[in-house]
Amino acid sequence: MSDSKMNEFMKKIIAKNPGEAEFHEAVQEVVESVIPFIEKNPKYKKAKILERIVEPERVIMFRVPWLDDKSQIQVNRGYRIQMNSAIGPYKGGLRFHPTVNLGILKFLAFEQVFKNSLTTLPMGGGKGGSDFDPKGKSDNEVMKFCQSFMTELFRHIGPDADVPAGDIGVGGREIGYLFGQYRRLCNEFTGVLTGKGINWGGSLIRPEATGYGCVYFVQEMLKFRGESFEGKVCTVSGSGNVAQYTVEKLIQLGAKVVTLSDSNGLIYDEQGIDEKKLAFVLELKNVRRGRIKEYAQKYGCKYFENKRPWGIKCHAAFPSAHENEIEENDAETLVKHGCIAVGEGANMPTTIEGIKVFHDAKICYGPGKAANAGGVAVSGLEMSQNSMRVSWSREEVDKKLHEIMFAIHEQCLKYGKEGDHVNYAKGANIGGFVKVADAMLDQGLV
Ligand code: NDP
Repeated sequence: MSDSKMNEFMKKIIAKNPGEAEFHEAVQEVVESVIPFIEKNPKYKKAKILERIVEPERVIMFRVPWLDDKSQIQVNRGYRIQMNSAIGPYKGGLRFHPTVNLGILKFLAFEQVFKNSLTTLPMGGGKGGSDFDPKGKSDNEVMKFCQSFMTELFRHIGPDADVPAGDIGVGGREIGYLFGQYRRLCNEFTGVLTGKGINWGGSLIRPEATGYGCVYFVQEMLKFRGESFEGKVCTVSGSGNVAQYTVEKLIQLGAKVVTLSDSNGLIYDEQGIDEKKLAFVLELKNVRRGRIKEYAQKYGCKYFENKRPWGIKCHAAFPSAHENEIEENDAETLVKHGCIAVGEGANMPTTIEGIKVFHDAKICYGPGKAANAGGVAVSGLEMSQNSMRVSWSREEVDKKLHEIMFAIHEQCLKYGKEGDHVNYAKGANIGGFVKVADAMLDQGLV
C-alpha cells in the first residue's frame, strides 16, 4: 500500500525536478518513513503537507562576476534555496565547490528543514553556495569572490529572514569576507551569518560543534546498547572542519582514530591519531591548506591514493566528507568487519542501498540530519547570543550542545523504536517532520 504510494509520489518528484538526482534521493529517504506515518495521520494528508514541504518557498540564482589576480574576469553561479520558514528564519550553510548545482543545494536545503526542526530551536531550513572552487585561489581572489557573491545575496537575507553559515569550502576566512561585505552594504552590524570570528559576534564551540555533536550522538546510541567509546577503533573520512573535531572528541572519549582523508587520498595510522598529530592536521588543512598525504610523510604511516576508509576494520565509522561516500559494498564491508555504529558527520554520505545494509544488520546508524545537527544547533545559539548581545562561555555552549544532541536522540527513540531495535532514520525523519508540519497546519495555506 505505502510502497505504491511512494512510487507514485517519487514519479511526480522526478518529473517535476528533472536531473536533480541528489534531491530525488533525499526526498525518497524521507518519504519512505513519512508516507506510512501520514497514512495513519490523515490531517497531514488532507492539507497536502508532503506535497508542499518538497517545494522550496523560494529559489534564488544569480551571476557572480569577479576579477582574478591576473585581472581576468571570472564568472560563477550563486544560489540560495529558501526551503521552509514555518518554524523560524531560513538557516543553513553555504557550499563553495565545483560540483555545486541546483539539485545538490535542494537536497541539502530539504535535509536542513528536518535537521533544524530536530534541534528544538526555532530555525527554518535553507542552503546556498556556488560552483566556485576556493582550492588553489589566493586569499585576495577568495575575498573578491565573496564580496561579489554577497553584493547580490545581501538583499535576500537578514538576521530575522535568512541566516547563512559555512559548509564545504566555506570556513572562517570566507565567513569573514562575506560578513564584511554585508556590513558595508547594509551599514549595520547584525547576526546575519553564523560561524563568525570570536571577536566579532561568533560563538565559542561553533567550529567544534558539528564534530563534537556527532560524537555525542553516537555516544548516546552506544549508551543505549550498553556500550562506550573506550578502546573502540574508529575510522573518519575527510579532514576538514567536521572531521577535525570529530577526531578531537573521539580522542578525548578514549577511542582510537586510525584514518583521515581528502579528495586525493587516505591516511591509515595504525598507532592512532593523537592530539599532537591532530594539531599538525589542523595547521596543515586550515593554515597551509595542504594535502593529507603530508601526514603520512611526516608520521610514516600508510597512504592510499584516491581511497576511502571503509575497507579498514573498525567498531565505529564517521563519514565526514561528502554525499554518497558509503555505497552498498562499503556498507557490507563495514558490517562484515564488525562495525557497530555509524555517525554521519557529512550530509547524506550513505546511499539508500547502503542504509538498507545497516538497517538489515541492525547496527546503530545515525543519519546526518540527526547526528550532524550540532553545527546548526550552535549556529542557533550564536543567533541567540547576537540578539541578546551576550557571549556565553565554552562550558555553557558545550553543555547546551550536549543537551540538544541528547534531545535529538530522545526524539529518534520516540518515533523510531521497532521492538528492540531503533530505526534512527525513521525516528529523525518523523520527529523532524511533525514539528514543521504542525506549524504549517497552524499557519494555513502559505
Ligand atoms: P570542509 O570543506 O571543511 O572539509 C571537507 C572535507 O571533505 C575535506 O577534507 C575535503 O577534501 C573532503 N571532500 C570534499 N569533497 C570531496 C570529494 N568529492 N571527494 C573526496 N573528498 C572530498 O567541509 P566540512 O567539514 O564543513 O563539511 C563536510 C561535510 O559535513 C559536508 O557533507 C557538509 O555538508 C557536512 N556538514 C558540515 C557542517 C559544518 O558545520 N561545517 C554541518 C553539518 C554537516 P579536499 O580538501 O581535498 O577537498
